[in-house]
Amino acid sequence: MKMILQAVWAFFVAVKTQIRSPALFSIGWELIQQMGNLRAVLRGQQILNVVLIAPSRYDPENGFVISSWRGVLPNSSLATIYNLVLRQRLGPNVRLVLRVYDEYVQQVRIGRIAKLCGFWNAMSLVMLTGVQNNQFPRATDLALEFRKRGIQVIIGGFHVSGVLAQFPQDGGVVNRRAFREFGLLGLVENGVSLFAGEAEGRIGMVLQDFLAGRSQPIYNFIGKPPDLSQEPFPIIYPVLRSRIFVRFAVPLQPCRGCPFRCRFCPTPVVHGRVIRSHSMSCFETAVRENYQRGARYFVFTADNLARDPYWEQKFDFLIALKEKEGKRIRFMMQADTGCHRIPRFLEKAALAGCRIMFSGMESVNPRNLAAINKPHNRVEEYQELVQAAHTYGIAIHFGYMIGLPADTPESIAQDVETLLGLHPDLVTFSLVTPLPGADDHRELFCQGQPMDPDLNAYDLMTRPVTAHPIMSQEEWMAAFQAAWSKFYSVENVASFLRKGGNYGRDLWRIAWYKYAIDVLGQHPMGSGFHRKRYRRARRPGFPKLNWIQFQLFRAREAVQIGKKFRQLALELVEIWLQSREKEAGKGISRWLGDRATRSDVAAYWSSLTGRLVRNDFRCLFSRELLRYAWLDLVIMFGFLHALFSHLQSYLEEN
Ligand code: SF4
Repeated sequence: MKMILQAVWAFFVAVKTQIRSPALFSIGWELIQQMGNLRAVLRGQQILNVVLIAPSRYDPENGFVISSWRGVLPNSSLATIYNLVLRQRLGPNVRLVLRVYDEYVQQVRIGRIAKLCGFWNAMSLVMLTGVQNNQFPRATDLALEFRKRGIQVIIGGFHVSGVLAQFPQDGGVVNRRAFREFGLLGLVENGVSLFAGEAEGRIGMVLQDFLAGRSQPIYNFIGKPPDLSQEPFPIIYPVLRSRIFVRFAVPLQPCRGCPFRCRFCPTPVVHGRVIRSHSMSCFETAVRENYQRGARYFVFTADNLARDPYWEQKFDFLIALKEKEGKRIRFMMQADTGCHRIPRFLEKAALAGCRIMFSGMESVNPRNLAAINKPHNRVEEYQELVQAAHTYGIAIHFGYMIGLPADTPESIAQDVETLLGLHPDLVTFSLVTPLPGADDHRELFCQGQPMDPDLNAYDLMTRPVTAHPIMSQEEWMAAFQAAWSKFYSVENVASFLRKGGNYGRDLWRIAWYKYAIDVLGQHPMGSGFHRKRYRRARRPGFPKLNWIQFQLFRAREAVQIGKKFRQLALELVEIWLQSREKEAGKGISRWLGDRATRSDVAAYWSSLTGRLVRNDFRCLFSRELLRYAWLDLVIMFGFLHALFSHLQSYLEEN
């Protein structure tokens, strides 16, 4: 009887937990899990709940957890760990139940998850995966909340790995201080396990330890990178797929590690300097399986694909897939700025389906490059790289750092001009930020230099977290914002679009970038569509709002976002007007002529407002008003029509 009541209660909580989810799939999935649990309990099996969570971070302005209705791309670490856990064989007496949450696109309801885990005398383990430095404060709060409810937690990712790699717990005073100051000691004291290093080949051990009740406080695999050759690739959790904007996109990491050692980068410290690659058979299986599931766009998140010893075989496989089997895929990749010197690398990448390449340029100033130990970036070759990539139809996306040692406000403005002259397709500017795990962070910490203690701000965009040798914090931040504004100004974007290339694709890309930066103030790859807020998910230290206060806050925020959105829309219209193909007497040009700009219309509307303020109501009956209203309508219609027809052709192409 008790068991039946428990089953009914479990179904009720399951429905209540998932009912607000947009995916009905979630409800069905949870009910099936609970029925399976009932059957397992009747058979005498132990139920093991594993809850995988990719935590988000707090909005630095108001303390709410950052979340979106739809994300841009699936979380790569979450997909990797999901597949690793899914493949574990824990014996006939254990039933594994997996729940997966990506907090950037889902609400993590701690209380309800804890309730679901509490049924059937189950053992439950929460795994906080892929936690970056700026997500660590949120991950810590989640971990402590689960611990309060008696659930075991393990936390992995770049923050834990970076700190333990740079400050090994060998008893040294500085290392112990780092362990405490970067939040790891507090977690261990509260019974949270830490996982440093890569999870491949180790997840089974962690789960077995947990089942046997002997979880370790620290699992440290730094310096012992696993052999990836036969390891599986990520799989996207089905429920999460429905919350991703580009559903046909899948992240794959064909190799890990980087032979270089840039001072600001934790990658060679955490992943090592020897490139480890998945075998060709694993790669082929992953591509084929994902293709069958509908994936048409891959995001190759390898630290540096150009240094993968098997890059050529992988590209050849993708080319053969397209030519012999008609399975055409597109992908984006990361490679260093010297990749164009590798014979046929870019040519084969393009043939294989590469559409965009990210490359860490960091600076156009050789003194800065020397200071960050990136001598392999040769300023005189940047132009060659861009031209080579464009020759093969690959768009170039540069990463550029603001606040390197030789930077001044004037030099940054000058460097942005130089950057514009190189004609990259996209540039992501970031503030120089010493990330735990990188060499520059260790140096500053050991020298006792002041650094912002709030890791939530270590997202490379919020604010400078350390002092600059020349600029004040205000000058630094102003130069950073000016760089974004200059590069993505209407004039520069319009002139870039006029140069040719795939107009629709480029316009959409830039629209997304401007939306993320200008409207949301977030990194474009980490942002999402339509911001969501959860009243109770607010950072400790910020006041808790009651329902009415929260709705007022949301209304104010909606107005602010609406204003920014309007500004963005007007800028995009202006960009389109200045860059569109103009065929005299055809299409929209028939109505607009060749020289119409949105500024003319905007100037007219503001003069009209001025006249109304001066009680000159005659202007309301003028022909001019009709003419401009008509012109504005035609412009808006033309813009929306162009935008959606470009979107349609982009989706068809992919
Ligand atoms: S910044 Fe790029 S090239 Fe430099 S170490 Fe990191 S991954 Fe390697």
